[in-house]
Formats: sequence, C-alpha cells, structure tokens
Amino acid sequence: MPGLLTLAPQWYWTTLATAFGLALGSFFTLLAWRWPREESLSTPRSHCTSCQHVLGPLELVPVLSWLALRGRCRSCDARVSARYPLMELATGALAGTAIATFGPTAEGAAAALLAMAMVPVVAIDLEHKLIPDVVVLPATAVALALVIAQDPGRWWQPLAAAAGAAGFLFLLWLLYPGGMGLGDVKLALLMGAVLGVAVIPALGIAFLTGSVLGVALLARHGASARKTAVPFGPFLAVGAITALWWGHAMVGWYADRLG
Ligand SMILES: [Zn+2]
Repeated sequence: MPGLLTLAPQWYWTTLATAFGLALGSFFTLLAWRWPREESLSTPRSHCTSCQHVLGPLELVPVLSWLALRGRCRSCDARVSARYPLMELATGALAGTAIATFGPTAEGAAAALLAMAMVPVVAIDLEHKLIPDVVVLPATAVALALVIAQDPGRWWQPLAAAAGAAGFLFLLWLLYPGGMGLGDVKLALLMGAVLGVAVIPALGIAFLTGSVLGVALLARHGASARKTAVPFGPFLAVGAITALWWGHAMVGWYADRLG
C-alpha cells in the first residue's frame, strides 16, 4: 500500500481529494435540499428551483459556475443562494486538508470522510433541526472499515469509542429528552469511529460551545430562550473538526498531567 501511494507526490493526492470534495459538496447541496423534503436524490436531474431549467454540464461545475453566473439562474435570473458554492468550498477544503495532514492512507480517508460529512449535517440541522441518517450511517460503516484497515490489531478501539460516545449521548437523551435528538446520538457513533479516544475532547468542546450559546440566549431573551430548541449538530461538528486536528494533542496533554 505505501509503495503504491508514493508513486505520486503528496500534492497530487491533496488536489485529487479537494476535487473529490468539491464534487461531493455539489451532491451535498442537492441532498440538503431534497432529503428533508423527502424527494428522490437521483431524479429529476439538478434544476433551478424557480423555473425548473435543468442545469447543463457547465452549470454543474462546483463554485466556478456560481461565480461565472454571479449567483443567478442562467435561464430565469432568479438568485441562487451562496450556500451552494459555500458548501462545495467547505467540503473540498476539508477533504484536501485532511489528506494533506493525514496522508493518502486509510487514516486520511477516514478523517476526510468525517470532516466532509459535517457539511450536510450542519446545513440540514441548522435549517430543519434534523441530522441526515442518509449521510451519517453509511459514513460510519465506511469509517469503521477504514480505521480498522489502518490498524487491524486494534480493531476493537474504534468500535469501543463509537459505542462509548453514542452510549453517553443516548444516556443524556434518556435523561433530558428535550435536549438533543437521536440524530445526535448516531452522529456520535461516526465521531467515535474516526476520532477514537479524541472523541472525549470533541464532546467536551461541543458541550462547552453549546452551553456558552445557551447562556448567551438566556441572557438575551430570558426564560423564553429555554423553549428555543437549538440544534446540537453544529456544536458536535465544531467539536469533531477541532478534535480531528488537535484532539490527540489534547488527550496527550491531559494524560501527561495525570502522570
Ligand atoms: Zn431559473
């Protein structure tokens, strides 16, 4: 495996991953629109939601087509939301950065998978307060396979981290059913599978940033803020992405101090 990967330089794999991420990000924009509306992901073909004009191949090029058309439909001139190029850019950048950091390996692919999956999770949770199982569950299965392939001798570690993280959130869901959804519990499975022990700082960061926002909302809107359900997925995403790059350093720092 390493022999094959050294056939091409690192920048080649980083560019390839970025291009893959841009294309997948384009699919995520379609998924973020259609999945919550229970529409088919395969038909009809991508079209303008105002005039139904079916997008041609050049109009499907991520980011560049939006820039070239200045955020408008070529056919009816309706505004096309900036979320399309932003989701594509974020997915591409996360994939490229993951492969640049962790290498063109099974570990790098698992890291890219976790980071990319957070893009539709955040977009859909912010808008619909739903976490897309259609992304999270397959990503978890593939991530487990990749992480176990990277280090088969410790096959039980990603399984234990996934079960531990999801079990912890499931317990909180049982105790405070209004606090989070089962979608968050399933998202923790994916985080544990990829992050291993670094899922602990990831959840810590999610709860910390989530409660800072909760206190800010209480201060601003008083008791009525208690009723405003805040989606927890974006906080889990912040925790997951932070821990992907710095989580093991955080765990190491803490373990050193325990001596
Ligand atoms: Zn149109």
